[in-house]
Amino acid sequence: MENYFIFVPIKKRHKKVMIIAVDGYSSTGKSTVAKMIAAKLGLTYIDTGAMYRVVTLEAIRQGVIVNGEVDKEGLRKVLKNLKIDFKYNASGNRYETYLNGEYVEEQIRGMEVADQVSTIAAIDFVRTFLVDLQREMGKSKSVIMDGRDIGSVVFPDADVKFFMTASPEVRARRRYKELLEKGSGVSYEEVEANVKKRDYIDAHREVSPLKQTDDAVLVDNSDMTIDEEVEFMIGKIKAVSDKQS
Ligand code: C5P
Repeated sequence: MENYFIFVPIKKRHKKVMIIAVDGYSSTGKSTVAKMIAAKLGLTYIDTGAMYRVVTLEAIRQGVIVNGEVDKEGLRKVLKNLKIDFKYNASGNRYETYLNGEYVEEQIRGMEVADQVSTIAAIDFVRTFLVDLQREMGKSKSVIMDGRDIGSVVFPDADVKFFMTASPEVRARRRYKELLEKGSGVSYEEVEANVKKRDYIDAHREVSPLKQTDDAVLVDNSDMTIDEEVEFMIGKIKAVSDKQS
């Protein structure tokens, strides 16, 4: 671990921006490792799942998604009037999500949004809207971005691509623990069903389905500690960064 502290932040070594893509299944801990890597390497962390969650939250609030049924014309109107802001929080070195000026980080993480988000994320015009924003955010600074289609669609030329996986049970247990700690009364079975449902919809949708690209490094973290995982991923990033310098 000590070498991390002598690793020169990438943004100071390269004029070119560096893009690291972290894709993979739900609840594989993408955001946890991406945040740690961002902090260690001086990259900005961008959580694209949060963007799909914000659109879903507003769609629920405006009644354009009810029991999985989407009123697409209504949703288009919602997007027109939706102002998503990603305010940079310097202390967390991350963007935080605001919906029409309201801080919504807590609301977008609940089960109601989790239940509907993959349906909203499968809609082509929602994806176009958010992918444009994501590309804009990676234009001027080095970023580590996590999602489902970052290496395949948003940044096909990303410098390093990771694809994260773990068994559905391991992932459901992790997510359940997280929700319990936040005081949610949700059952383990509900969480496991949600994780499996989202994986299925994400991998089978027509637009930008979740899949590992040929050039992505597979990380199966079922039996890895977070430190092992971060060390492994930083090793890969460092190897690419050394080659480029
Ligand atoms: O990453 P997170 O679990 O917060 O993402 C929530 C949902 O948003 C995913 O299940 C997926 O349906 C959708 N998503 C996506 N493309 C991304 C990020 C998230 O389709 N780049």
